[in-house]
Amino acid sequence: MADTTTRRRVCILGATGSVGRSTLEVIALHPSRFEVFALTAHQRIDELADLCRQWRPRFAAVSGAAQADELRRRMAADDVRTEILSGKRALEELAAHPDVDSVMAAIVGAAGLAPCLAAARAGKRLLLANKEALVVGGALFMRAVEQGGATLLPIDSEHSAVFQCLPADRAAWHRRVDHILLTSSGGPFRSRDPESLHDVTPDMACAHPNFAMGRKISVDSATMMNKALEVIEARWLFDLQPEQVRVLIHPQQIIHSMIVCRDNSVLAQLGTPDMKVPIAYGLSWPERIESGAARLDFATLGGLHFENPDPRRFPGLDLAFDALRAAPGATNALNAVNEVAVGAFLAGTISFTAIHHVNAQTLDSLAARFGPQNNLDDLLDLDARAREAAQRLVRALAR
Ligand code: NDP
Ligand code: MG
Repeated sequence: MADTTTRRRVCILGATGSVGRSTLEVIALHPSRFEVFALTAHQRIDELADLCRQWRPRFAAVSGAAQADELRRRMAADDVRTEILSGKRALEELAAHPDVDSVMAAIVGAAGLAPCLAAARAGKRLLLANKEALVVGGALFMRAVEQGGATLLPIDSEHSAVFQCLPADRAAWHRRVDHILLTSSGGPFRSRDPESLHDVTPDMACAHPNFAMGRKISVDSATMMNKALEVIEARWLFDLQPEQVRVLIHPQQIIHSMIVCRDNSVLAQLGTPDMKVPIAYGLSWPERIESGAARLDFATLGGLHFENPDPRRFPGLDLAFDALRAAPGATNALNAVNEVAVGAFLAGTISFTAIHHVNAQTLDSLAARFGPQNNLDDLLDLDARAREAAQRLVRALAR
């Protein structure tokens, strides 16, 4: 048993979400290894209050001051001594707190970028689920990781799979890898007639075949924009050229991704589709600990199926490759407009098929604004402009 005096102190950004909760499930299996130091949420304070009662973290944070007051009142009534903070700065402070060892970045969307940068600059062990932070921050983020001496561990299951297949020596990656194959379930509409997608509802889009996830990533899985963002994420994480990142549909999601080596040998990572596996690996790397996920039973698997994505059904994938080849800032804008479009679809304002329309058209209209993104302010400025442009189109398309 590990010594409790050397427990790793973990800050979970986005603790009330799907990845945040799975992280707590893994931590619950290893009380002698990990201590829950800080938990954050956006608005769901009932859920955060329950987690604070259960885990008694030193800090908790929410976005709004009024919600923080309410949470403080509840914690005092229950004699929970968690210190409650609020606002964006609070997330950055907790992510970079000197007593924190590991930061689980599980906020959804570009909102996760600033605390991720703070954790990277403070040299933390950074478990990155928040792919949007890397899509938005790209070069700036990777520089912060390098300069801060942070250890960046991918949590997205595909990127964790690639990471697990790569040699420990980073310098050998380029010599060894020809390209990587990111697998995708194809989402709930993989075999549906593309002509019939206009009328699908948010609940239909969120009914992922293998994973229960937050609603934003679920819609992204249905459009395959999730894979588009993952292509960009992989480009930065593994320092690859766009043509070295390929996508393959694999509905069973048993193979979580593969690397194709220079000699055409293929290495894959397999397991049941359960986020607890990459989370446990991120928490314990370079060791492996119990994850709580079910073990793969090959004899009952049936078959593994693969196909290329149909660009007619999933036009968003090409947007990622175009954005990677465009001027800096294009991937940042793509992420921002997609967040707006998905939000509008979830709110019932636009149709499912309009998501791509908003993404493609807004990105086109913004092309002249792309250029070097030297700091967080540059990134946030372009993010804001892209959101405004996407909102205008959403209003024009509103049903
Ligand atoms: P959820 O929607 O389930 O959870 C999101 C978390 O972020 C919640 O704790 C939420 O708080 C918090 N949050 C939302 N908006 C803000 C904001 N503006 N400021 C601060 N906190 C905020 O998302 P998931 O757990 O599904 O996904 C999290 C990230 O992990 C995403 O980037 C996703 O792409 C990635 N990912 C998820 C996988 C999955 O299986 N779910 C798999 C691989 C990657 P509140 O509850 O208060 O709203
Ligand atoms: Mg993924």
